[in-house]
Amino acid sequence: MIEVFAGVCLSLALTLMIGMILLKKVKNAVTPSVRYLFAMAAITIVSYVTAVVVQDQRAATLAYGLYFAFTDWLVIVLLLYAEKYTEIVRKNRVGKILIYAGALLDTVSMVVNVFTHHVFKVEQTELLIGGESYFAVADKRPMYRVHLAIVYTLVVLVLVLLIVKVRQTLKLYRRKYRMVLYSFVCVLVLNVGYRFTKFTLDISVIAYSLIAIAVCYFSLFYVPKIIVVRLLSFVVREMEGGIMCFDLEGKCVYANQMACRLLQVAEKGKNGSMERFFAEWLAGKQAGELEDRTWHEEYTIEGEVRYFESKFRRLLDEDKNYVGCYFLMQDRTEELRKIEYERYRATHDELTGIYNKTGFYEAVREKLNQEPERRRYMICSDIKDFKLVNELFGLEQGDRVLKRIAEILGREALEGSVYGRLSGDRFAICLYEENFREWLFNDYIKELATMVPSAVYRMHIHVGVYPITEPDLEVSVMCDRAHLAVQTVKDDYQKIVVYYDDAISDAMQHERKLIGEFDTAISEGQFTIFVQPQVARTGELLGGEALVRWNHPQRGMVPPGDFIPVFERTGFIHKLDRYVWELACAQLKRWKEQGKGHLHLSVNISPKDFYNVDIYETFTGLVEKYQIDPKKLKLEITETAIMEGLKQQLSLLERLRAYGFEIEIDDFGSGYSSLNTLKDIAVDVVKLDMGFLSKTEHGDRSKTIMNAMISMSKQLGLTVVAEGVETEEQVAYLTNAGCDIFQGYYFSKPLKVSDFEAKYESELSAR
Ligand code: C2E
Ligand code: CA
Ligand code: CA
Repeated sequence: MIEVFAGVCLSLALTLMIGMILLKKVKNAVTPSVRYLFAMAAITIVSYVTAVVVQDQRAATLAYGLYFAFTDWLVIVLLLYAEKYTEIVRKNRVGKILIYAGALLDTVSMVVNVFTHHVFKVEQTELLIGGESYFAVADKRPMYRVHLAIVYTLVVLVLVLLIVKVRQTLKLYRRKYRMVLYSFVCVLVLNVGYRFTKFTLDISVIAYSLIAIAVCYFSLFYVPKIIVVRLLSFVVREMEGGIMCFDLEGKCVYANQMACRLLQVAEKGKNGSMERFFAEWLAGKQAGELEDRTWHEEYTIEGEVRYFESKFRRLLDEDKNYVGCYFLMQDRTEELRKIEYERYRATHDELTGIYNKTGFYEAVREKLNQEPERRRYMICSDIKDFKLVNELFGLEQGDRVLKRIAEILGREALEGSVYGRLSGDRFAICLYEENFREWLFNDYIKELATMVPSAVYRMHIHVGVYPITEPDLEVSVMCDRAHLAVQTVKDDYQKIVVYYDDAISDAMQHERKLIGEFDTAISEGQFTIFVQPQVARTGELLGGEALVRWNHPQRGMVPPGDFIPVFERTGFIHKLDRYVWELACAQLKRWKEQGKGHLHLSVNISPKDFYNVDIYETFTGLVEKYQIDPKKLKLEITETAIMEGLKQQLSLLERLRAYGFEIEIDDFGSGYSSLNTLKDIAVDVVKLDMGFLSKTEHGDRSKTIMNAMISMSKQLGLTVVAEGVETEEQVAYLTNAGCDIFQGYYFSKPLKVSDFEAKYESELSAR
């Protein structure tokens, strides 16, 4: 029996020693304390086994003495461990010294006891079971009680520490300390129990090793894991998403509150419902199909539809065996809304809420891809001089017009149509060929015309139609084609709908050719000026208007109507104008040198020039360069140019006049400026639009307006020039009405400079 006991004890001691070595690798604050505990427990066990096994009384006394002494130290190590583990650090140095001194004295006392027997004696005793004889402790003296007192004091300290910690700690962490405390109490119970049973081997010795192992397990391994699991379960419970976990058999292991809400399952008895959900989800799926997957679904929570991203994930063990799975449903509503909002903003027009250019292009492309065989029309609209609506009636009214157009488009758009606002006042609609009705646009235009009730400005809208013959073309190109059609309308207000056809396509090609030739034309001096004489009431030649001509190497003399609009559209006009102005100045300089310094030249300034050229710098620079009188260089500006950005323009005109230039309003009456605006504009000359002249033959109304314009101009002290004068009657009428200067075929067509000079000479000699 004793041998068996010794065997068990020694192998435990050996295990502890091996454990101590292995623990070295475990990184934890309490690992050193645990390792001391292992060592101390091993030594204590070995000393007890020795005491029981030896047959010599003195040796047995020494071994028991050591066993008792080591018990002191074992408990001290346990105390140190408890301190570390519970992190209740006591700074009581006196207490510590007392404990160490007590244990030391007890150790000495136990060794000396071999000779003095002041603590205990050993006696040959028979084992209660089996009857084997061994040396057991007998005749315990008062000093033995001192030893017990030391041990139990320490034990009580350890107990107190653990109990305090257990009580202080949050419920979740309590387990960590409680398990150690329970193991400790178990050993104590065993130990105390042994004290009441005489002549038995001390089983609690084995328990020492057990407590060491238990302590090690609970403080280093088992407990932390439990806490991680619990903490994770908190995380999962608190998570905004729903989560459900199923085991191998499809039993619901876990489902958080959110999952219950989503599946509308009561928390109580949720497992049954969850399993049903899983079974239904699985239904029809093959084992092989059971793959991780992610999908989107909608759930209604408290009456609100929300978008969830759901995931199904398999759980695999280390050997890649399927052990369970989980579902994760995450609310992506806000993200989705944000993305949708961003997308909406990127593809929709803020003002009207319909597609913007990007959105329109994308939507059309999609439609075309869906049914490439269906015939469609691309239609783009453009309001004539829309900027004027803003200028004359204010931005608010302008916005209202744009919104109205969007509304009309929305109202008329039939199934399969896409419409949007491409920019400013440009709208586009792409519809099925059979849905296209020209009259629709006529109505549309009538409605718009009523929106800005004004005598001076009537809103004109033009619509370009491109029948989509090549659906693979980029949508932007289709829109460009429809726009090109619009641009061919020019000033014909009656022409509302214009189709993109071969003529336009040819014109396009022609346009491209012109642009390609522009730079060479400038560098080779192919552009020249013709001068159209301007004559006073007296018949005296005052000067003329410089009008550009392109002396093309192949096409001969090209009139400006063929290329000016192209260059205006494509942004080349300022280069050409700059060149023409220079020619005019050089001519004025020559005349000055030839003694014809009183002749003037009027030059045209395109509305586009104001955006690309510093007008003031350029003209003052030219005048200084050629040393000419600014009075002789007259600047022709159209109404439209003045009306766009009225404020800056007015101050520019003031500055030019202050320098000495004369400003002429060209084509007055063709646009929308009211007679009143004349008062506010700092100009010197009004050039009446030729259109009026041709109309005066037909109506009294035009005549009335003409008369009013002339008399008003006179009242304002402006010079009136009549353009496009073709007949003697016109001259008579205009002279009568008060016109100062005449320009027109009646007097002369625009002439080559040399012809103009010859005409001048002959007139001089005629006088
Ligand atoms: P505009 O400035 O109104 O010039 C007058 C135009 O009317 C000239 O046409 C002239 O030949 C024409 N005309 C003159 N008298 C009569 C007449 O009795 N009956 C008719 N039916 N027509 C008459 P042109 O030279 O073909 O110029 C056309 C337009 O081209 C000009 O109109 C002007 O807007 C523009 N333009 C001409 N040269 C330049 C230039 O150097 N720069 C810019 N930006 N535009 C120019
Ligand atoms: Ca002109
Ligand atoms: Ca004119």
